[in-house]
Amino acid sequence: MTFSELNLIEPLLQALQEEGYSTPTPIQEQAIPPVLNGDDLLGCAQTGTGKTAAFSLPLLQRLHEAGPAHPAKAVRALILTPTRELALQIGDSIKAYGRYTKIKHTVVFGGVGQVPQVEQIKQGVDIIVATPGRLLDLMNQGLLSLKHIETFILDEADRMLDMGFIHDVRKVIAQIPTNRQTLLFSATMPQEIQKLSSSILREPVYVEV
Ligand code: AMP
Repeated sequence: MTFSELNLIEPLLQALQEEGYSTPTPIQEQAIPPVLNGDDLLGCAQTGTGKTAAFSLPLLQRLHEAGPAHPAKAVRALILTPTRELALQIGDSIKAYGRYTKIKHTVVFGGVGQVPQVEQIKQGVDIIVATPGRLLDLMNQGLLSLKHIETFILDEADRMLDMGFIHDVRKVIAQIPTNRQTLLFSATMPQEIQKLSSSILREPVYVEV
């Protein structure tokens, strides 16, 4: 299997070649086609399996093919992840894979001043990668709206639970239109995550690696 057989577009294939990725990992093979198709997805996968590319590549492709945001500067995709470190890693991956697209992203997390993050958002971004606390802060201040989110990705759902963030996560989700694509990734599937999954996913494709 090759990335081109997964029907990825040339700007992404070019970036992947430059990253030195020759073949998709199992989670990428399984997740990319349904995500490109617009399906919801429940992914049981740990860090290190290539799951970041499994969701970032089809997300970038869908946003690229859909053209500019309407209304202008609206945020179209949200990736929630539990830690600053993970948020920065995902941001770096999106930057690398998306370098030949016009898709813009920014990373939002707590423990640092909010002003530079707010400035980025104001300039217009397609994708926000965020930790839940800071995201809620910005939303509560009216500095960020999730009204135009088309794709929502919840990464490391079980860690969100372990870190006590699940309540914040639910508050964020309540602000996202229900007519959206949702992807949920978790290394383990405790009952609380199964419950959350069935309340936010619609007929999800299940992938496990
Ligand atoms: P992740 O599970 O998303 O944290 O990715 C783990 C590591 O694998 C990262 O350093 C990626 O850059 C790398 N990686 C992801 N997909 C591939 C691939 N298809 N070929 C080679 N390396 C990859």
